[in-house]
Amino acid sequence: MQTKESRGLVLFNRNYREDDKLVKIFTEMAGKRMFFVKHISRSKLTSVIQPLTVADFLMKINDAGLSYIDDYKEVQIFKTINEDIFRLSYASYIVSLVDAAIDDGLRDAPLFDFLVKTLEMMEQGLDYEILTNIFEIQILERFGVRLNFHECVFCHRIGLPFDFSYQYSGLLCPQHYEKDSHRSHLDPNVLYLLDRFQTISFDDLKTISVKPEMKRKLRKFIDDIYENYVGLHLKSKKFIDDLSSWGDIMK
Ligand SMILES: [Zn+2]
Repeated sequence: MQTKESRGLVLFNRNYREDDKLVKIFTEMAGKRMFFVKHISRSKLTSVIQPLTVADFLMKINDAGLSYIDDYKEVQIFKTINEDIFRLSYASYIVSLVDAAIDDGLRDAPLFDFLVKTLEMMEQGLDYEILTNIFEIQILERFGVRLNFHECVFCHRIGLPFDFSYQYSGLLCPQHYEKDSHRSHLDPNVLYLLDRFQTISFDDLKTISVKPEMKRKLRKFIDDIYENYVGLHLKSKKFIDDLSSWGDIMK
């Protein structure tokens, strides 16, 4: 077992035996790990093991089994996210995407950083649906899915009203629409936005604004992409889908 200090984000916790907990934390330096917390009712760790908590953890990392938390400092909680069920459900979904996308124990500091930054922007009140779309598009690579939303697969021209072809796993320009009789017939703006989402910086994000109808089109196409290339069925995603239909009724 080795002692390590690292920032980490709590993914979830669950009960274990009578008074113990298992806590899964995505750490910046040692990847995702499962931690064992004994006697939670008497533990100083109670508040820091809540989902979506970020802290500096002092840990004993065990490569072969459960790891342990010795101490922590600099706790960061996402108050605004936690108080809003819509925001919280999107945040929980991107956290579960991370849990699904990479193996445990695999160090992935860039992904850790991206996740925390995305949560910070949700916390600041930026559009959580668009932040989620950007996260979904950028994390595709971690699932081994590399899609080019920038240029036609045949002639490599850019900046045209593209359509998407599942047959060629890429874009078709108007001149090459005919190559796939089952092309998606998408609104070209969906693909324009996905191209931007792949490379967008957090500063540019503050200027992005997307109308509700376009958001629905993005949601539908990204769902199709995930269905066809990733095949994930996360409970947290189902919750968002159900929530949005409830949201429509409430409006
Ligand atoms: Zn072309």
